[in-house]
Amino acid sequence: MKFKRKCCECGALSSSLIDGKCEVCHRAEFPPIKEFKPLVLHFCNVTKKIAYNNIYYTEDILFEKLPEIVGSKLELNKGYSLREIEIDEIELDGHLVRFKVNIECDFEL
Ligand SMILES: [Zn+2]
Repeated sequence: MKFKRKCCECGALSSSLIDGKCEVCHRAEFPPIKEFKPLVLHFCNVTKKIAYNNIYYTEDILFEKLPEIVGSKLELNKGYSLREIEIDEIELDGHLVRFKVNIECDFEL
């Protein structure tokens, strides 16, 4: 059985504290994603391919590779580990490549 300690912020009892704080308080101060580094994609209107790091991909292939690419641009705060990256939809609008991403993180000590 794990020993429970009091969160120094809200007083909740928890068996896992980070720097003296419970998960809720830690999360409020440090959200899972610390930094999302710039991700530059270029869409070519002629070939209809999308370039990342000077390599051109078709939309389908890029869609498959996006979770890995997004993952390489993410920096998480202490206490979190990446569970899953899911790309919702990709939209090409002129030269813009837009996509929605869901990032699931686990909290652990
Ligand atoms: Zn707390």
